[in-house]
Amino acid sequence: MANVGMAPSSHDLDLRCADVMPRAVKISHHKSQQTAAPLIPPKPTIANLRTAAAGCKACDLWERATQTVFGEGSVHAKVVFVGEQPGDREDLAGHPFVGPAGRLLDQALAEAGIARNDVYITNVVKHFNWAPDQRGKRRIHKKPRYWEINACRPWLDAELAVVKPEVLVCLGATAAQALLGKDFSVLRRRGELVKSSLAPHVMATVHPSSILRAIDDESRRQQMQAFIEDLRKIVPLIHKVGKAA
Ligand code: SF4
Repeated sequence: MANVGMAPSSHDLDLRCADVMPRAVKISHHKSQQTAAPLIPPKPTIANLRTAAAGCKACDLWERATQTVFGEGSVHAKVVFVGEQPGDREDLAGHPFVGPAGRLLDQALAEAGIARNDVYITNVVKHFNWAPDQRGKRRIHKKPRYWEINACRPWLDAELAVVKPEVLVCLGATAAQALLGKDFSVLRRRGELVKSSLAPHVMATVHPSSILRAIDDESRRQQMQAFIEDLRKIVPLIHKVGKAA
């Protein structure tokens, strides 16, 4: 049953939370205050969070997306990677990081010596935010707005509370600024371990999609190498603390 006790209550509004909600949830109508918090199960597991998130309508992004794309990976993962949002392929497939950026992440993880099976991968926003291109044929990625990130944050917080990673890696500026502060600069601080209450070790680096946008092959090769070097920094941290699988 959803934790309706966590809902803000000053102005009531139907959250449109559909099937996962046993009864209507009361929530503030201010967009910036509307969050998924009332949907978090009282005893969260990744499985029941995923089920609850499938019916989330706490912000408007569900309307044009195909489905919720929840995080995936080992619940005992020592590393959690957090990106911005699912892309076009992820939206259709229902799985995070399965498109071109995901393949590039897989390659970088392999080269850094980190098995994808040992990590948990998710996004700060669980629905694909897009707009049609000029001809209306392609879905163009749109950056999520702050109230959408805020609305979705309870899902991420619950994932982190269940997985309890040793290392948290923010992929790209949206994730880094959502989790480490709006002034955080990935450009200046990538690969740096930063203090955070989110995990014992926290780092930000670029989003792999930025490498795909490199202007030529040589620049792409250099950016990929820098990304792999960032990932290599977390390898000793993963191996430092044993954790039952
Ligand atoms: S983006 Fe997040 S908060 Fe918004 S509807 Fe989707 S799951 Fe819910």
